[in-house]
Formats: sequence, structure tokens, C-alpha cells
Amino acid sequence: MAQEMSHKTDGKQNLYQVALKQLDYVAKLIDLDPGIHEILKYPKRELTVNFPVRMDDGSYKVFTGYRVQHNLARGPAKGGIRYHPAVTLDEVRALAMFMTWKCAVMNLPYGGAKGGVICNPKILSSAELERLTRRYTTEISIIIGPNYDIPAPDLYTNPQVMSWIMDTYSMHVGHSVPAVVTGKPMCIGGSKGRLEATGRGCMIVTLEALKHLGVRLDETTVAVQGSGNVGGAAARLLSEVGCKVIAISDSQGGIYHPKGLDIPAVLKHKSETGGIVDMKNVDVISNEELLELDCTVLLPAALESQITEENAPRIKARVVTEGANGPTNPAADRILEDRKIFLVPDILANAGGVTVSYFEWVQDLQAFFWQENEVNERLTQIMTSSFAEVLATAQKYNTDMRTAAYVLAVDRVASAGLQRGIYP
Ligand code: NAD
Repeated sequence: MAQEMSHKTDGKQNLYQVALKQLDYVAKLIDLDPGIHEILKYPKRELTVNFPVRMDDGSYKVFTGYRVQHNLARGPAKGGIRYHPAVTLDEVRALAMFMTWKCAVMNLPYGGAKGGVICNPKILSSAELERLTRRYTTEISIIIGPNYDIPAPDLYTNPQVMSWIMDTYSMHVGHSVPAVVTGKPMCIGGSKGRLEATGRGCMIVTLEALKHLGVRLDETTVAVQGSGNVGGAAARLLSEVGCKVIAISDSQGGIYHPKGLDIPAVLKHKSETGGIVDMKNVDVISNEELLELDCTVLLPAALESQITEENAPRIKARVVTEGANGPTNPAADRILEDRKIFLVPDILANAGGVTVSYFEWVQDLQAFFWQENEVNERLTQIMTSSFAEVLATAQKYNTDMRTAAYVLAVDRVASAGLQRGIYP
């Protein structure tokens, strides 16, 4: 059952075809109205733009970019923009659909969108990136806006790129419009708590999973793959609430201590030296070994396709919290389910980021900014209620948490569509 529900493509499968198969699977499960099912298969809007950019050497280069809005039944569209050489329209379509489901499962008043530009940001200068961003923003400005479609960072786009988008859009309309994009720096309307929001969300749903399974925090051990934005914050916050984080890694490898690591010291070492594996008084392990450690919680927060049919039989954790997008392969999904390992799926586990993006948009619209504790309290409230709703759906349909998250999401989007009716 879980096989049909994973994000992962297992090879070169077209991601949009995978997304459509997932939708078909859920549609059958919830006996979805065939007309609504048909509507949800297609993105509402797709914009392809070919635009020139002046390079530093004076030459011109034409780039191709996309912005796809999958569904707007629940509100304006929300979703990131990625800069990558391998971006395709089908990938952007699929990711826009995932955003529709992710916003719906969190009950945010948004539809889903995604954007991308085919480029290699690693070989572009900062000035070239700025010109590319401003021209791409201009090209897609006919469909974005605070009430239409609100972009955010994704692969190889960051707060600086969001600032250029905000500035370009604002120049067009003649006044500052911070709410056109989220993930901005604080000085132009960013939100407190945004940087650690995804890791905090992972921590909150992990605590909910442990509560559900009746596991005490002081007997919980955690292994975290990745120590970046998501993994680093999740590890620190889980250690702060009393869990023992026994392992953490980066691209060079992992470190392990059975009594628990001093996570703030590990993160300080990483920011000072760029790595963690040369820390003193710890065992060095490989990323593969980390995944198979004897621990209560495994939190993959680095790359996709880390838990596969090969290593899934050896995973010892009771809970897997998917901090990364798509860290579990479809075949591995089934193995974990058979082994009764409780998996909190990415669409729920890492949705803390988009949730605080929503808070950023709300604050920008109101021009009234919240304290960090208010952001964190509201995030906790949304993460815990979404977890409870997904769990209740899993119990109602006697299914796994990933399938349940999709059931809940598709049902919410379908209800909005049915309630609104078809225009005219
Ligand atoms: P990041 O770049 O800050 O950190 C990535 C971490 O992974 C780093 O510690 C890096 O050393 C480690 N890493 C890289 N290659 C590795 C390897 N081969 N083995 C083990 N570790 C390796 O990225 P991030 O923002 O923390 O994102 C991590 C994952 O979470 C991605 O899948 C991303 O799509 C997903 N995600 C992030 C957010 C967010 O708000 N940042 C939101 C939703 C999902």
C-alpha cells in the first residue's frame, strides 16, 4: 500500500507520472468524485518563459524558466523556486501538486505552486544571478502577487534571491510589497523563527509520535542524518527537550556517542571548522552506519533515497521522521510498514517551513510582526493538530501515515472545489 504513496521515483521515472499515480490511488481509496479527480490531475496554470540575461562578459544568454500553479481552490498558490540545470516542466508540475497537498494537510489557506529556472547557479556570478532573478521575476510577475501566488526559496535559492524578487515586483507596482514572497531577511519583512522552523516542526511531530507510542523522552535516543538547516535545528531542539541525540552527520560522515552528544558544541564546531568528524571523544561512523543505529528515532534530514529496500530491513529505529524530502524509497516504505516502524511522512514532518512562511505572509499583510515565542507557539499548535488529524485518518482508513496524509489533503482540496462549484 505504501508503495504507491512515496514521493520517490526509483530511477528515471517521470515525477509528474508518479504524482498522478499517487492521486489515482488516493482517489480510489476515498471514492473521489470523478469530475474533481479529473480537475486535480491538471495544473490550473503553467507559464513557460524564455528570457535573455546579459552575462558579465557582455554576451547574452537565453534561459528558460517555469511557474506552475496546480490548484487555487483553498487560496492563493504557494511554493518555492529552484535554480538547477535539471529542472523540467514535468518536475515543476509534480512539485506544484505536492505543494497543494502539503498546504492542505497543514490546513493552510493556500493552493500549491512551484517555479524553476534551468541554470547552473554554481557557475553564475552574483551579478548574473541578480539579473537572472530580476528578469525571471518580471516574466512571471503576470501571475504572482500577494493575493495570487507567493514564491519562496527552494534548491539553490536563498533569502538574497527572495529580496531581489521582492524588490523587482515592488519596483513594477511602485510601492513595497513584502508579502509577494516569503523566506526574506528580517530587515525587509521576514519572520522570526523562519530559519529553524522546519527543524522545529520535525521536533514537534517526533514528540507527538513518541507520545502516541508511549515512549518516554528520557529513554529516547535519536540519530540525525544531516546537520544543516533542518538536521542541525531538529537535533538541537530534540536534545533541549530531553532526548539523547547519539549520532549526527554531514556529507563527510557521522559522529556517535552512546551517552549522547553535546549538540550545541557539535554545531559550534561545524560552523567554526566546516565539519564535525574531527571532533574529540566521539566515534566516527559512516552515513550508512548512522541509518542502522540502535536508536528510538531516526531523522533523515539530508538527501533523498537514503532508506532503500537494501537497508530498510536493518533499520532499528521505532520512529522515522522524514526531515528531508523523499528520503524513503517506495519499496523501503513497504518494508518499514511491515516491520511496524512508525513513519512521519515528509509532507507532514517537514511542513514547519511552509507553515512559518504562511506566518511571514500574514505578518507582511498586516504590517505587524510577532515575537519569536508567538511564532513558535502557533507553529506548535498547527503541527500538533495536523499530526493528530493525520493519525486519526490513518486509524479511520486502517492505513499508514503517508497514505493518510495524502487522503486528508486530497479530501480537503476536493471539498473546497466541490463547495465552490464550477464557474460559470
Ligand atoms: P542544508 O544544505 O542546510 O543541509 C544539508 C545537510 O545534509 C548538510 O549537513 C550536509 O552536510 C548534509 N549532507 C549532504 N550530503 C550528504 C550525504 N551524502 N550524506 C549525509 N549528509 C549529507 O539543507 P536543509 O535545508 O537542511 O535541507 C535538508 C533536506 O530537507 C532537503 O531534502 C530539503 O529539501 C528538505 N527540506 C528543507 C526545508 C527547509 O526549510 N530548509 C523544508 C522542507 C524540506
